[in-house]
Amino acid sequence: MSQPLDPFNALHSFDPGNGQPGHFHSLPALEAAGLGRISRLPVSLRIVLESVLRNCDGKKVTEHNVRELAQWQPQAARTAEIPFVVARIVLQDFTGVPLLVDLAAMRAAVARMGKNPKLIEPLVPVDLVVDHSVQVDFAGRPDALQRNLEMEFHRNRERYQFLKWGMQAFDTFKVVPPGIGIIHQVNLECLAQGVLSRELEISNLKSQIFYPDTLVGTDSHTTMINGLGIVGWGVGGIEAEAGMLGQPVYFLTPDVVGVHLTGAIREGVTATDVALTVTQMLRKAKVVGKFVEFFGPGAAALPVVDRATIANMAPEYGATMGFFPIDAESVAFLRATGRSDELCCAYENYYRAQGLFGMPQRGQIDYSAELELDLGSVVPSVAGPRRPQDRIELPKLKQEFLKALTRPVAEGGFGKTEDDLYESVRVRSEFHAKEVDHSYGHRHPNVEPSESEMRDQHPAPDTPQMLPLSAFPRFDAHLRHGSVLIASITSCTNTSNPTVMLAAGLLAKKAVERGLHVDSVVKCSLAPGSRVVSDYLEVTGLQASLNQLGFHLVGYGCATCIGNSGPLSAPIEQAITENDLVAASVLSGNRNFEARVHPSLKVNFLMSPPLVVAFAIAGRVDIDLTCEPIGKDQSGRPVYLRDLWPSLGEIRELLQSALRPEVYRKLYTDFTRQNPMWNDIPASTGLAYAWDAQSTYIQEPPFFTDFALQPGTIAELRGARALGIFGDSVTTDHISPAGSIKKSSPAGQYLLARGVAKDDFNSYGSRRGNDRVMTRGTFANVRIKNLMLGGEEGGNTLFYQKLEPAQAKPSGGECWPWSDVGQKMSIYDAALGYQQAGVPLVVIAGQEYGTGSSRDWAAKGTSLLGVKAVVAQSFERIHRSNLVGMGLLPLQFRDGTTAQTLNLDGTETYDVLGLGPDLRPQQDLTLRITRKGSEAEDVPVRCRIDTAIEIDYYQHGGILPFVLRQLVAMA
Ligand code: SF4
Repeated sequence: MSQPLDPFNALHSFDPGNGQPGHFHSLPALEAAGLGRISRLPVSLRIVLESVLRNCDGKKVTEHNVRELAQWQPQAARTAEIPFVVARIVLQDFTGVPLLVDLAAMRAAVARMGKNPKLIEPLVPVDLVVDHSVQVDFAGRPDALQRNLEMEFHRNRERYQFLKWGMQAFDTFKVVPPGIGIIHQVNLECLAQGVLSRELEISNLKSQIFYPDTLVGTDSHTTMINGLGIVGWGVGGIEAEAGMLGQPVYFLTPDVVGVHLTGAIREGVTATDVALTVTQMLRKAKVVGKFVEFFGPGAAALPVVDRATIANMAPEYGATMGFFPIDAESVAFLRATGRSDELCCAYENYYRAQGLFGMPQRGQIDYSAELELDLGSVVPSVAGPRRPQDRIELPKLKQEFLKALTRPVAEGGFGKTEDDLYESVRVRSEFHAKEVDHSYGHRHPNVEPSESEMRDQHPAPDTPQMLPLSAFPRFDAHLRHGSVLIASITSCTNTSNPTVMLAAGLLAKKAVERGLHVDSVVKCSLAPGSRVVSDYLEVTGLQASLNQLGFHLVGYGCATCIGNSGPLSAPIEQAITENDLVAASVLSGNRNFEARVHPSLKVNFLMSPPLVVAFAIAGRVDIDLTCEPIGKDQSGRPVYLRDLWPSLGEIRELLQSALRPEVYRKLYTDFTRQNPMWNDIPASTGLAYAWDAQSTYIQEPPFFTDFALQPGTIAELRGARALGIFGDSVTTDHISPAGSIKKSSPAGQYLLARGVAKDDFNSYGSRRGNDRVMTRGTFANVRIKNLMLGGEEGGNTLFYQKLEPAQAKPSGGECWPWSDVGQKMSIYDAALGYQQAGVPLVVIAGQEYGTGSSRDWAAKGTSLLGVKAVVAQSFERIHRSNLVGMGLLPLQFRDGTTAQTLNLDGTETYDVLGLGPDLRPQQDLTLRITRKGSEAEDVPVRCRIDTAIEIDYYQHGGILPFVLRQLVAMA
């Protein structure tokens, strides 16, 4: 048992309420000692300061770090980095599996050095929630949940075996199995404790030392937990690994923007509407890289579930966090979700002792800037068609859709005419075409088939390998631009909020009572983030109404929110392609980038769960639901949205049944054993993983093969070629797609060559444990536009390197074709060719490079393709740090300089001058561009290695080699 660190004599005692005195690192004591006006610091910063104080060991965290943060000024140049040691780490499976693969690879490297693999061991608790793998293959039928779960296990068996190995190999690594819930909702409802404690020895006596629950997660929306007053945000997998292995998470001292909330949400408005309004408002206020802290009477009046919905969308408004301070509502939420009295008491007493309890009011805190929002001014909204910050007031959706439809393609529209809107195409299901006389398929109320009827008509496939025709309901419909084809109640953003979920159920109930239905051409789904949702929807009888409209439960996971919306039936796909239909999805998710929800759906609108149900009934997005009827009742009378919308009173009445502590306790007790399919998966044992060379899911990555104990030196980059030149807003999904793998793509060809049938390809996201697939998939998004090819979509480029015949493609023995006007080929093939020739690569891009979900494979894949530097107009925060974390060089053009102003077309070669062992954070460097037959052009660029520790990471070739060298040196 170790002694606590206390260089500032700030260790004090308090009463945690369990009869035993507890200890804590007191921030008021630090202020009394004259370190700064700590009580006026934003609450979120004070929580970070507590971690810096508690972990001040003079090495990783110094007294200087404590003083610097304690003296934070609202307005100042931000150059200091904060070493933040977090209390725990959460992972989802798409990012968690590759992280575990890296840990296993590090253990393998340590074993090869003849040392104990146990050297590699997470030092803080790690929880991995398997939520990203379920796909909506089956929908609109009572057995959809079970069928999708079977498909998920069939597809992911190898990955799940590997996770089970991890559970036994590492002491502090826990897994929440599939079918339990979504990471952030499970975190909010179960994993988060608010305050943590551990036993230490103080004055030769054992004592509990208390500290705030803080975390980082490998998912952008980790910020949802900020709604409960917990500091945490999304980081790349690489940073999370370093955090697990005892490295602080380093970040630049942030500005903190206070958002003063007043008023209250009005009747007819939801927390989702507030989240979309806040997203639009804060995007405009440019809060990228800043902490946002909500305060004031409006914030105090919001329940934690509404706070969580708003906090969830912090990545969409660009902030590092969207933080709500701790108050009585936070304690009430912990109690309502079944946390013990002892914990709730310790939580409240701890934050009171720290002077951190209670919602701050205006004038109490010094923020870098203050913004104002009257919650009473928020109106029903949706966001889209492509970006979450593009909020549209509900009555304006029809005209905004029409504008987008008719806007020229060059201006981001779809280039149609207004008349096109009235053209329609008849589409009939394959099943229907074969059995025209069956009436089942249209979800009219009272014709919902019984489960046995459903089984007879839709027999189970012999194997779940292929989706049977019966996976799709029958339909006979007319499609046109604006038709809704996917309607999904999805995403922890909203499914964690009983208010909006009950509103969806109540709206469904009223719609069914009025005789409305959803056409079966619309693929409806309900994918909540915990089983608690099902409990209250069942108890209130609302699930039955949702079922009648087709919103059957499809899984407890991310599903449509992450793009796992599953296939549309072949006739629909065909109709969309042949008629170039601009069809829509409506979803309660937080992201709607192109091709995210479904590759064939060009417009995607984010909205609250009740609006999802409403638009599913309407069947189209070119409608003003505030004045046009949503449908007609049995007697042909028009029904309006206002007739169906539940009142706040109706929702509140049902909320009592939603938040029952005993239900949370029951569903979250011993949940690891509650999935028989998970229990049936065999697990290998041992400290080191036995890699299977035949596996197409899990392979040892090459990051630590030929590992040297000494790092290289930083040197200039010479003679690089452009692998791609991209425009603005290239997302991590463009760089490393998570979705389906095309048969003709390099990754598809790789899998086919290893005997994997197309139906078993699964998604890129699920194959992140195999670097061979992922490297081939880098820049392979069907929607990425390489400006070297005039903006043509797809993962291709022009290859400009002459290779001798002896340098044949390793894959097929065929030689790389060459011509000095550039040869078109896949980005992967071109990268291999350049590697053969020993030519380093650069990527050129526009604004917000790497925006979207945190995705370390976007950096890993780029690195494995042989890219050494990415030159962009600006970078998304996490992706920039991931690039450095993989030993890549992010360079930023000066304002006004772009690939277009420089006339770059990929025929050039590039040097990066000024790079050397004395490299400093944010140093100005020179990008030399050499064109055939003309003088070289020197362009100033800013090195976006932002901190001193990142220089070390860059020199070591990335964070992991840096950490591994440290661990081996200490052993
Ligand atoms: S539901 Fe959406 S926001 Fe939530 S963890 Fe999954 S992908 Fe992220």
